[in-house]
Amino acid sequence: MGSGYKYGCPNCKFTFGCSTGVGFMFPAIYKETVQRARAGELGQEIKSFFEMHEDGAINAEEVMLCCDECGHLATGKDLTMYTPKSGMPKQNEHGRWSIAAPFENENYVSEYELEEFYDEYAKYKHTCEECGGNMHVVGADEKLMCPKCRTQLELTGRFLWD
Ligand SMILES: [Zn+2]
Ligand SMILES: [Zn+2]
Repeated sequence: MGSGYKYGCPNCKFTFGCSTGVGFMFPAIYKETVQRARAGELGQEIKSFFEMHEDGAINAEEVMLCCDECGHLATGKDLTMYTPKSGMPKQNEHGRWSIAAPFENENYVSEYELEEFYDEYAKYKHTCEECGGNMHVVGADEKLMCPKCRTQLELTGRFLWD
């Protein structure tokens, strides 16, 4: 289940809409994201990560991103990289690490599994499309500021998708 949010600036009428979380298409999205990462479409760092860690995993959840430099807001995949916790069983014969029956036939790693069975390896470096600055993943309690006039944005709408 994903959540959608609409924000508006009370000062300059800037609006920003985004959808975060995971939807029912998540297994397909996860697979596609890993394929793109391995193909180098998401940058050299994440490509090298999968080359070094065949059993690595990523967080393919949609998140909100905010530029540290110019305040530009965007949505994108989290893409934090993870490696299995030490002492966990090795990857299965399909080239995928698998811990137990519940996930045996699934070709993606859910957020729950990432938390339970993986250690964070590195955060993905998100780059701002506006200024080339570094973007961080917006936290749940973080106040969103208008990128145009730096007024705090107000939540103007909320919806659920999937
Ligand atoms: Zn504004
Ligand atoms: Zn920027």
